[in-house]
Amino acid sequence: MSFPRKVSFSRKATLAILAITLPLAGYSHARPAKRVAVRAVPAVVAPKGPPRLIVAIAVDQFSADLFAQYRVHFTGGLARLAQGAVFPAGFQSHAASETCPGHSTILTGMRPAHTGVIANTWIDQSVARGKKTVYCAEDVTKTAADPKDYVASVDHLLVPTLGERIKAVWPASRNVAVSGKDRGALMMGGHAIDQVWWWKGKGFASLEGRASLPVVEAENKAIGVVLAQGAPGFALPAWCGGKDRAIAVNGGDGSVGMGSLAATVVQKRAAAFTVGTGRFALAKGDAGAFRSSPRLDRATIDLATELVDAMKLGKGTAPDVLSVSLSATDYVGHATGTEGAEMCIQMQQLDLALGDLFQALDQRGIDYAVALTADHGGLDLPERLHEQGLPQAQRAGAEVQADVLANVIGPKLGLDPKGLLLADGSFGDYWVRRDVPAEQKAKVVDAVKAELAGNPQVAAVYSAAEIAAAPMPSGSPETWTLLQRARASFYAPRSGDLVVLLARGVVPIHSPAPGIVATHGSAWDYDRRVPILFWRAGMTGFEQPNGVETVDIAPTLAALIGLKVPADTFDGRCLDLDAGAGDTCGVTP
Ligand code: ZN
Repeated sequence: MSFPRKVSFSRKATLAILAITLPLAGYSHARPAKRVAVRAVPAVVAPKGPPRLIVAIAVDQFSADLFAQYRVHFTGGLARLAQGAVFPAGFQSHAASETCPGHSTILTGMRPAHTGVIANTWIDQSVARGKKTVYCAEDVTKTAADPKDYVASVDHLLVPTLGERIKAVWPASRNVAVSGKDRGALMMGGHAIDQVWWWKGKGFASLEGRASLPVVEAENKAIGVVLAQGAPGFALPAWCGGKDRAIAVNGGDGSVGMGSLAATVVQKRAAAFTVGTGRFALAKGDAGAFRSSPRLDRATIDLATELVDAMKLGKGTAPDVLSVSLSATDYVGHATGTEGAEMCIQMQQLDLALGDLFQALDQRGIDYAVALTADHGGLDLPERLHEQGLPQAQRAGAEVQADVLANVIGPKLGLDPKGLLLADGSFGDYWVRRDVPAEQKAKVVDAVKAELAGNPQVAAVYSAAEIAAAPMPSGSPETWTLLQRARASFYAPRSGDLVVLLARGVVPIHSPAPGIVATHGSAWDYDRRVPILFWRAGMTGFEQPNGVETVDIAPTLAALIGLKVPADTFDGRCLDLDAGAGDTCGVTP
């Protein structure tokens, strides 16, 4: 294992070998890893038959906009994928553009309305513990006290993943998932999973009761060495120069575009700080900084590679699935936004780390197919958006918060405002206190709608009944109405009594602080649109710019490996990855 370090451009010998042996594969610019010698030559002709290993990659918060902005600079793994089947307008089509719902769509082929994963967290007023917030990847029955000490579980995922479907047909298949987040690994892996590992605290952990593995112990030990020593920052690539500019947060007069709401927003403003010029220097022992840096992705990819060896993935009698969810892009986006030097460095390091992963698979002679996408997109922080053509970007005011709304509405309806409205954040699902009678509950919902009707920060408020009555959307996801987007992530037993969708450019972080200045989660396309890239050795690349969905990935991969599933299994459809007259979906041209 090794961690990101200065990029080497000096391996001319291995570059030459790659250039000679891989021209048809379309990635002759791939930069070889420093730490491994090129020992085997990957196939340059299209392999026959189905691939032996599916490598499904989710890059957390990797918006279509980031891919579009940086693809010209990629030389590693993302450059290789950009030579495959490229769907630049992929969609996490639903409104709840968060990590857990997004990951739940990728290998199930189903929208959150069917996966049941409606958000990262939701309120379940029936749980026995004091705090009613439920995390999407926890076992509620085992987490009685503080939800922060939850027991990780995939129980909330209601449908099987591709890896599980393959195992059901070919029991020899292995289903393995690795991530920087538990929900990333669990929602892609599913219930029947051979190995599942995610970053927890200072290293990788698994489900309760699972035995450790020597490769995981070794990886964690190596991480421990880096943490103990600390590490210098990353060099800024020349093409990142324009991004390297300090943006003040919580500074000046607090005028973050709030207009008449500015007075509300500047209250209790936290200490000023800047973002935009970071290099990810790692102080000794700072595991949090390790996590919010390219080092997390490098460690995740290292562990994935080591699990390939330990389990001989791609060498068995049935196709295996390796899910890799890379979380650093998301942590970097939340901490420093999408348009600073930090994200620029992260994009370069992500590309290089993915290049090393693919090169490692090449060297092992594995016939693998890659699908890469994201769980959602993201938006930059309002303070920088103001300088870059979006003066209407703003932070959400207090008026959309559940307790503030309850204090306005409760007295009007003669109801105790305390806990009248419950929400985990200032957008998305809101619940009415469960002891409120049904007739009164409807009045509360109507009162919220009336209260927010004139709020320019709010695009729409829908009651659960309105959303439930809408048919499940179909057709091009870029044309869906807001109600249709909300329908795609609505699951009645878990969803709120109402759903609040914020206006375009409204960032639901009321009080930014170091580590959290920007986010995603909206129903707008900057949060919904993600790249969807497929690659296999020897394939002829093409680009299809029309909108497709992440729920199309599972049916596409199922067809590629010849997995038969009943009709109407998926919300998505198979995408033909053959650039010519052939059809990987099995339809005769
Ligand atoms: Zn995410």
